[in-house]
Amino acid sequence: MIDAHVHLENGPLSKEYVFEFIDTALEKGIEHLQLLDHTHRFYEFREMYDDICQADPRQKIWFEKKQKNSIQDLLKLKDEIEQEQLPLKVSWGLEVCYEKEREPFLRSILPGLPLDFFVGSVHSIDHFLYDIGAFSEELVWEKMDTSIIYKKYYQELAQCIASDLFDQIGHPDVIKLYQLDPGYDLHPTYEKLAQLAKEHHVCMEDNTGAYYRYNHPEIGLCPAFRKILKQYQVPIVWASDAHYPAHVAMAYDELKGAQFL
Ligand SMILES: [Zn+2]
Ligand SMILES: [Zn+2]
Repeated sequence: MIDAHVHLENGPLSKEYVFEFIDTALEKGIEHLQLLDHTHRFYEFREMYDDICQADPRQKIWFEKKQKNSIQDLLKLKDEIEQEQLPLKVSWGLEVCYEKEREPFLRSILPGLPLDFFVGSVHSIDHFLYDIGAFSEELVWEKMDTSIIYKKYYQELAQCIASDLFDQIGHPDVIKLYQLDPGYDLHPTYEKLAQLAKEHHVCMEDNTGAYYRYNHPEIGLCPAFRKILKQYQVPIVWASDAHYPAHVAMAYDELKGAQFL
């Protein structure tokens, strides 16, 4: 069993903190733990967020708080942990905040990083973050039609898959988080994304984050989307999107049940 998306975000990049995640993973029967952090934690990715910071001062404040380390700190920690005898497999990656315009920068930096995997995720619509309690309602959800937001999200996600920059796509249908009606049939979108994921050899996450962090009734992927991905034989990895050690493999029992919906 894998947990393919676990953040170190809320703690130090230290061995002790990593072992807190490893301990929970072992308790929960996880055999492969994929540790990562957002690109916004690392100074080297700063220029990628200029558009976000310029779009609204609140986003700039949000971003400045997120900047904590050099990517070298993560690589050093990876080396240190790799010296240890570990009771499970641990892989190291990055969750990249993808926007089409960031591709040239990403192509210049990602291939040089000795990490095990890269996750591509869409976290913004037209440079506005859509899931921040303090301001996303005003900046995104009250400003645009829900159908436009969904269309822009999935358009960006399609480009993210097709970029060939990533091994894995983060929470592919998380735009559903506030349970708003997109106002159009998403099945053709699911088909298109499945086709692209197959062509570009990326795996898609069945991510429980929206279920336990935003109380979304679906556990992981929308059942129709999951079914289509399986039809296209796209590899699916289970992921908790844990931001704390206690959340590793969160809601996996429920996710097990959801596989047969
Ligand atoms: Zn994410
Ligand atoms: Zn994440």
